[in-house]
Amino acid sequence: MKLFCDKIGLKDGRGKFMQQERAKVKPSTKKEIKEIKALFLKHYPNSVTELTYNNLYELLISVILSAQCTDKRVNIITPALFKAYPDSISLANASLDEVKSYISTCSFFNNKAKNLIKMAQSVVENYGNKIPLERDELVKLAGVGQKTANVVMIEYTGANLMAVDTHVYRVAHRLGLSNAKTAIKCEDELSLKFKTDLHLLHQAMVLFGRYQCKAIKPECESCFMSKHCKSTQTFKV
Ligand code: SF4
Repeated sequence: MKLFCDKIGLKDGRGKFMQQERAKVKPSTKKEIKEIKALFLKHYPNSVTELTYNNLYELLISVILSAQCTDKRVNIITPALFKAYPDSISLANASLDEVKSYISTCSFFNNKAKNLIKMAQSVVENYGNKIPLERDELVKLAGVGQKTANVVMIEYTGANLMAVDTHVYRVAHRLGLSNAKTAIKCEDELSLKFKTDLHLLHQAMVLFGRYQCKAIKPECESCFMSKHCKSTQTFKV
């Protein structure tokens, strides 16, 4: 079997920038979308995040840290961080240098440390020390963009939302579910096409992209989705 690597337009988990594949893939038909959805739900019926957390505070911090960083790395970092700062109040009063020292092996740790403290200060000052469980409020917190807010809502509440990370983006393009050039546009397209069970489909596409439909050397020979794959012709050897 040939070793394949296609090109997409988001940073991968290790921060390498992958260029977008020039050739657009053929869009999936309505029938194919239905079948793809059914296959994802069948193969990943109850998937959850691989981030380790015990409560909403820990989940939010883990998701913020996971931007451009692997879940594995975040899970190594967070136990000591949560021990030092077990709640928003302790984190709101933390010294920037100390927070940096706990997350220094995480990508963009300087900015992330600043954002974590600002986020905690805002939770304490503006939300009565209670992290808001609404997407429109979550995005007002430092370090929380639409994707982060959606992932928190998906994981913690099972909200019918899609979130597009590098894995979801790659899989969506390879299966002809999206030709979007941005994650937000891709999120809109997937939401429109799948309509329901978006939280399960998000988790399924993350795991499928992480372990099967990998950026480099996807495991095509054992792929349950190969019938619907539109990208094998566009791979660069
Ligand atoms: S056959 Fe499967 S693993 Fe290979 S690129 Fe297509 S969807 Fe990904």
